[in-house]
Amino acid sequence: MRIVLLGAPGSGKGTQAQRLQAKYGVPQISSGDLLRDAVARGTELGLKAKAVMDAGQLVSDDIVLGLIRDRLNRSDAAGGFILDGFPRNSDQANALNALLNEIGQPLDAVLLLEVRRTTLLERLAGRRVCQKCGTVYNVHSLNGVTTCPRDGTELYQRPDDKEEVIAKRLEVYEKQTQPLIEHYSKLGLLRAIAGEGELEQVFERMEAAALAKPVPAAAVKVTARRATKKSMKRAKSATAAPKKASSVAKKSLKRQAAKVGRKKSTSKSPQASAKSTRKTARRAVKVPVRKKAARRKK
Ligand code: AMP
Repeated sequence: MRIVLLGAPGSGKGTQAQRLQAKYGVPQISSGDLLRDAVARGTELGLKAKAVMDAGQLVSDDIVLGLIRDRLNRSDAAGGFILDGFPRNSDQANALNALLNEIGQPLDAVLLLEVRRTTLLERLAGRRVCQKCGTVYNVHSLNGVTTCPRDGTELYQRPDDKEEVIAKRLEVYEKQTQPLIEHYSKLGLLRAIAGEGELEQVFERMEAAALAKPVPAAAVKVTARRATKKSMKRAKSATAAPKKASSVAKKSLKRQAAKVGRKKSTSKSPQASAKSTRKTARRAVKVPVRKKAARRKK
């Protein structure tokens, strides 16, 4: 699995990347996390990056590229990676392409998480992060809890999640990162995923998109089918609004945190799970190859 997660700040890239990492054992490589780590360690690079990050701007390409190059060269990335937050502009995308060609690890897919602006604003302003384990929560579902349900550590708000910085970050995304959608679409790598709804549902869509085999454009035959009751129901649940916090939010948060923390799925092996998801994925991108007709032609 060699993928890039694309999407606006607050679209859920980090959360979904953590889940993919836990299930498939490929590392999440987040440029934001690498930068925050350098800031926390007070390195020269971190000091340079901090002010830019706090203002919601992009850190210079050479700094970010250096971090990504070092990270991709570590042994745990040899079997795949999930790039989260990188690339963020076309120069970075070109540099990534060159780097991956150099190490013989071309991208399998670019997954775009699509989320409405109102939802992004709500998520970013309400985001709280555990200082210790990095688990991400939202004040709307925390019900006044200020510590991590997993390990009891105080939660904090990222400086760039302050309202005045959020607008800047979204503007930077629209201007500099959004053009990558077309870039990767032209390369045939882009897969768009509805990023709203239940976390688990979004994850299933991500998995299906990540594991689907690329389909050559020439082989795709678009069939206009009547909507069935079942397909309508599926479409409805895919666009369902996020659930409001319930009275048992605390309990479910704990469960959710424990789940994210688990290294591997307990019910199925990653291979078995990947196989069944691939089946779903194949169904999702079903290509009606007319075998008999093809044979007749021969
Ligand atoms: P994130 O955690 O991905 O939202 O990133 C937080 C901040 O780190 C961004 O607002 C940027 O200032 C910086 N950053 C993260 N990734 C990149 C990147 N690929 N290029 C430039 N700056 C980045």
